Amino acid sequence: MNTLLEALRQAVSADRIQVDAELAPYTTFQIGGPADVLILPRSVKELQAIMRVLHSHQVEPFVLGLGSNVLIQDGGMRGVVLCLKELQEEQHRNGTTIIMSAGYTLKEVSEYAQRESLSGLEFAIGIPGSLGGAVFMNAGAYDGEMDQVVTGVDAVDMQGNLHHYNREELQFAYRHSRFHENHEIIVRVTMELQEGNPEDIQNRMDELTEKRESKQPLEHASAGSTFKRPPGYYAGTLIDQTGLKGLSVGPAEVSMKHAGFVVNRGGATANDVLGVIHEVQKRIHAAHGVQLEPEVRILGEAQERTSSVVTVVRAQEVDIPALSKLCADTFRETFSHDNTEEELQAFFDEAYNHDVLKRELEHDESETYLAYVDDVLTGYLKVNWGDAQTEHELENAFEVQRIYVLKAYQGYGVGRALFDKAMRIAESGDFAWAWLGVWEKNYKAQKFYGRYGFEKFSEHQFVVTPDKTDTDWLLKKSLR
Ligand SMILES: Cc1cc2nc3c(=O)[nH]c(=O)nc-3n(C[C@H](O)[C@H](O)[C@H](O)COP(=O)(O)OP(=O)(O)OC[C@H]3O[C@@H](n4cnc5c(N)ncnc54)[C@H](O)[C@@H]3O)c2cc1C
Repeated sequence: MNTLLEALRQAVSADRIQVDAELAPYTTFQIGGPADVLILPRSVKELQAIMRVLHSHQVEPFVLGLGSNVLIQDGGMRGVVLCLKELQEEQHRNGTTIIMSAGYTLKEVSEYAQRESLSGLEFAIGIPGSLGGAVFMNAGAYDGEMDQVVTGVDAVDMQGNLHHYNREELQFAYRHSRFHENHEIIVRVTMELQEGNPEDIQNRMDELTEKRESKQPLEHASAGSTFKRPPGYYAGTLIDQTGLKGLSVGPAEVSMKHAGFVVNRGGATANDVLGVIHEVQKRIHAAHGVQLEPEVRILGEAQERTSSVVTVVRAQEVDIPALSKLCADTFRETFSHDNTEEELQAFFDEAYNHDVLKRELEHDESETYLAYVDDVLTGYLKVNWGDAQTEHELENAFEVQRIYVLKAYQGYGVGRALFDKAMRIAESGDFAWAWLGVWEKNYKAQKFYGRYGFEKFSEHQFVVTPDKTDTDWLLKKSLR
């Protein structure tokens, strides 16, 4: 590696080369371990010099554009990564043709075309990739696709030679181009557009941007659509219909806004995202027999998990027997010191029979989630709004009605994951308050909720046995 680095430093300016570079900031997912070496060339000549050095050391680099379609694993990438986002040396027009370097963002490319009164790239305005990455992926949106405008591509091969390909040679197909096979590096793209009215072009771009912003979870880090469109279906619709919106592993989650996106809500690892991807694949296959394939390119080295995986998923009708048993088990653990087995059984039979649970799951003002630790069902959450018990005291309140975790799994972060989920649901609605009840002797829970801004506002007595009552503290937190 040292002799390679020395040779690279002679070929390009040292400030273009980083050693042991974190890749997360180079991806829209904001995820990824380090690259041994990361190089950001600024010209085709520089890139060719780099490729000659790499070739003579028999090193094949990996190419990154803006990292908007990749999931780099937590172990990072061995060898050399070339990031082309600074390759922006050429931008010009010739009649209705524009020629641009591969490192420009698609936003910059479509804005340039608009300024030049050229139409045809409006569809690309919101795709957050580089021009090179868009050609590689044959990116597309709203009935437009790169293959409709690209007429030529210049690319550098592994020996550092420059080639030109015309349209017929590019082998465009759905999210595919010839560069998937030949591993050459796209450096310059020629696009044929039509004369247009700049105002009309701008209006169309604004319309598509608005559409995208209203449908996609752009407020969170992601790599766009996680799965390819399976033949005959739309991945997002299939995932939504299977009730998998909100399925999460740590801070990685199937977006509540658009089921086709897995988002990083902050601090997710690649393992968390892969956990969500695998769980979705498993459940979609079980429910529909459809195998979802990731559209996101999964790269780099896996890092073994050292801790347990907590998966949170919305409960469905098929989960009722398991949910019923879980309710009984968690209640038994909590209340057996005060109740006989017969009393508890009578309570479960009335409160948690399958009909009651089915009604709860179907209720459109409540949601129930299940938590798994390494695939074992360990806890559940029920949230409720509309007819919250406190309505005489708190208007427009969201209730965290139950969070229960089996004792054997306390300390695994299950309660935290479920509470987090409850707060996310609360914050996505227009509620003034969140509230919950905590048994007066459960000091640990009171402290836990206190840390998240919950304060006592009232008390509620409930009957434990005919001759005994207990008290819940009612806690509230402002959501405004
Ligand atoms: C919020 C969001 C919305 C999105 N919406 C869309 C959409 O509507 N339509 C769509 O098609 N995609 C969409 N995407 C995915 C992504 O933006 C596109 O796939 C984009 O084309 C990837 O470009 P990139 O530069 O980020 O490539 P990267 O993610 O960096 O790389 C993707 C692949 O391209 C290769 N590559 C990149 N640059 C080059 C190059 N110069 N030469 C050779 N190979 C290269 C890489 O090796 C890698 O295999 C979206 C992503 C996000 C985050």
